Amino acid sequence: MLKDVLSLKMGRSVASIVRSHVPEHRVSQMMDHFTQYVGSSPYASPAVLCSIAHMQTEEGIWYPIGGTRAVPEALSKLAGELGVDIRTGTDILRIETGGGSVSGVTTAGGETIACDAVVSNCDAVRTYRELLSGTPESTKFEKSNRYEAACSGVVLYLGLNRRYEQLLHHNFVFSKDPEEEFDYIYKKGQPAPDPTAYVCAPAISEPEVAPDGCESLYILVHTPYLRPGHDWKAMLPGYRDVILDKLERTAGMEGIRDAIVTENSLTPEGIHNRYRVLNGAIYGLASHGKFTGAFKPGNRRKDLHGLYLAGGAAHPGPGMPMVLMSGWIAADSLDQDVTNGKFA
Ligand SMILES: Cc1cc2nc3c(=O)[nH]c(=O)nc-3n(C[C@H](O)[C@H](O)[C@H](O)COP(=O)(O)OP(=O)(O)OC[C@H]3O[C@@H](n4cnc5c(N)ncnc54)[C@H](O)[C@@H]3O)c2cc1C
Repeated sequence: MLKDVLSLKMGRSVASIVRSHVPEHRVSQMMDHFTQYVGSSPYASPAVLCSIAHMQTEEGIWYPIGGTRAVPEALSKLAGELGVDIRTGTDILRIETGGGSVSGVTTAGGETIACDAVVSNCDAVRTYRELLSGTPESTKFEKSNRYEAACSGVVLYLGLNRRYEQLLHHNFVFSKDPEEEFDYIYKKGQPAPDPTAYVCAPAISEPEVAPDGCESLYILVHTPYLRPGHDWKAMLPGYRDVILDKLERTAGMEGIRDAIVTENSLTPEGIHNRYRVLNGAIYGLASHGKFTGAFKPGNRRKDLHGLYLAGGAAHPGPGMPMVLMSGWIAADSLDQDVTNGKFA
């Protein structure tokens, strides 16, 4: 047990552990970049998150045929078969409470649905700040927690009339200087002038997503979460140029602008409005803090009987696999509580 605790290397960051084993700066940059996919800087994240690189490189990654949306589509089909009533397009404005327990939810249409338990998949901080606004639990949560939003990002969705033979399904085009890049994203709160780009070319695994000889690209560049004064409608054209220049310069994708036949994009503002996350954060809450940074708000809430949290800003954290686990843990906790007579 003590050996396990010591192996967590508490008090040290991902970057310091990786760099103490791997002095070659380009290889260490590649290895500690994995923490970006939980929206956090490797220089500020606890060493236990080195496990992300281990899991992805040793155990591999999955591609759902049909893209990521195939996962929620399959889940909603299964839920429908089990008799679950799913109401999309229904905003929840409030979680109703009384006597230390939840008692229902109120929709934007003014309907109050009475219930003994609520599993909130809304961002954890926004659940307390907005859906529970004005309650003692909301005030206490704000006072006792200092959660920081994870980073955000810009996505370019490009349909190209040609292919670049050097591309694999998953590609990374790294910045020259990761310290400078993370300083911009996490400290200065400005988009990095020389960013790292994740370039996904899914036609390599699923040819149906692009016509023959063409390419459908998903390009993700991490940016700071939304800060006051960020106006992405004005910032996007300039940053799109930064990204396309980077791909031409570092990934050998010359002529990419001329090859674009269809284009769409997502900015931190778009992410914020579409998914209603905290300040446009892609991955819930940052994992910053060398001792406890990896801990997220627990799924079963001790402060409010009947409230459970699930999603990227709840335990165990962000990203599709962990979010699915989060829903599973929340559902299991509720199931245990029902079985143990806590709702009797
Ligand atoms: C651009 C981008 C790229 C990503 N890339 C990857 C990746 O490659 N791999 C990976 O594993 N993860 C990736 N992620 C992260 C992953 O998508 C998230 O961690 C995950 O979707 C979070 O799941 P969730 O259920 O918490 O939230 P969401 O998927 O955002 O679902 C929450 C839903 O609740 C709705 N909602 C919120 N509040 C209310 C309310 N009050 N009433 C009604 N509805 C409400 C929202 O509109 C939203 O539809 C990416 C995220 C983004 C934005």
